[in-house]
Amino acid sequence: MRPAKETPALSLSAIIVAAGRGTRAGGDVPKQYRAVAGVPVLARTLARFAAHPIVDEVVVVIHPGDSALFAALPATEGRAKIRTVHGGATRAESVLAGVRASRADRVLVHDAARPFASPELIARVAEALGRGPAAAPALPVTDALWRGTEGLVLATAPRDGLFRAQTPQGFDRAALLAAHEARAMAGTGTAADDVEVALAAGIAVEIVAGEGDNFKITTPEDFARAERQVARGIMDVRTGNGFDVHRFADGRPLVLCGLEIPHDRGLEGHSDADVGLHAVTDAIYGALAEGDIGRHFPPSDAQWKGAASDIFLRHAAGRAVERGFAITAIDLTLICERPKIGPHAEAMRARLAEIADIETGRVSVKATTSERLGFTGREEGIAALASVTLVARG
Ligand code: MG
Repeated sequence: MRPAKETPALSLSAIIVAAGRGTRAGGDVPKQYRAVAGVPVLARTLARFAAHPIVDEVVVVIHPGDSALFAALPATEGRAKIRTVHGGATRAESVLAGVRASRADRVLVHDAARPFASPELIARVAEALGRGPAAAPALPVTDALWRGTEGLVLATAPRDGLFRAQTPQGFDRAALLAAHEARAMAGTGTAADDVEVALAAGIAVEIVAGEGDNFKITTPEDFARAERQVARGIMDVRTGNGFDVHRFADGRPLVLCGLEIPHDRGLEGHSDADVGLHAVTDAIYGALAEGDIGRHFPPSDAQWKGAASDIFLRHAAGRAVERGFAITAIDLTLICERPKIGPHAEAMRARLAEIADIETGRVSVKATTSERLGFTGREEGIAALASVTLVARG
């Protein structure tokens, strides 16, 4: 019996066409560099593709005069996949430059001004490429269609079989390259999109379901619609929990929530053993699904010996910001018989808020005893339990 032959997975490039001047949308920079809810349209589009696990590389076709604007874009997830090429005078020339620069077997050509293509849509087009040489998303036309002139309806038009085309449009790279080169050679005028170029070359294009939200930003009104769409889509709310325990030891200062608290013993640990900060830090890493303190600051690494634990919390809070989240609540419970936490709780809240760089009103520090039961009841150590809430900034 022969072993089954493995088919290597075909690679996939996203080609983001961003060389246009976008004058219809108004503004003093091309529309793809204008912000929607604080983030430039192109950065939003790039993030969708660069973060997608089935996309191997992202080729951005930019205008030669836009290099500084491109360099000023905020970094996105998956940025190592992204590179740029310069576009030409027409959309077709720009796409051709992108297809030539691509190193993949298949390409998804996408308008920079469509920042809302969902991960599911990208996957749907790519999956259809497994069945044929080309696939593109579209929505059936549902409004009645008229032909008119000078404000008057001349006639109705049948809408059966009509679709509104979207991107990303997916192609076998070699087939699309040949189609564009043939068209460029023939000098056959402008094409509305790459499906038109493919059809002219006799390539069959499968229609996959498009999405209403995947609209192209063209007019000033479209920017307002995009802002509303972002506001609607920010419900990425995450919670995380953290739990930590350190045992008491003689001859060490007691550090809790970044403050030295008067007590006859301190806590034992590799760092300053600040059990409160450790629990909060782990809760943030948990909400981000980024492991725990030990992963980011290995105890085997001598540089963290005796370290003040505020560096751990600062790092976790910084990661939340980098990932686009605001920390909206921290709730910490310290479990011990002694020292009494109540007299220090307000100062601890203020210190935690300062380290995490959020308002004190979003930080809670409370304490409980364990009724003299268990290790905390026997005053062998202190336990800490934390919950945090993160909300995406849109
Ligand atoms: Mg700890």
